[in-house]
Amino acid sequence: MSRAKTPISEEVRREVFNRDGYRCRFVDEKGNRCCESGTELAHGIADTVSNCISTLIIWKEKYDERSESWIHNNVINHPLNLFCSCPKHNDYFNRGFNRAQIPAIIEAIHKALRSEGLL
Ligand SMILES: [Zn+2]
Repeated sequence: MSRAKTPISEEVRREVFNRDGYRCRFVDEKGNRCCESGTELAHGIADTVSNCISTLIIWKEKYDERSESWIHNNVINHPLNLFCSCPKHNDYFNRGFNRAQIPAIIEAIHKALRSEGLL
């Protein structure tokens, strides 16, 4: 499978930074949000080849068949899979450590793409 890796678009970057107020989205166990500036974007479903393939398989089982580059550009780099983060908390957002959450992210993105008329 070929993989045309497209970076997160400026439009999506701006949308996520604005949504999160340019602040890190990390919330600790006491409910306190990190006070650091969100200087980077963290992926929930991390941007790796194996995650793209896993997501593609889940998408195909639930919805329809898509190319790996489509999954990368429309699901992995969807604003709902991106979080404003400080450098210290970037790994916290990686749902690879809690794979049970991945189908819920995919479902939310499918719903968002449908409501945006993109599906
Ligand atoms: Zn932080």
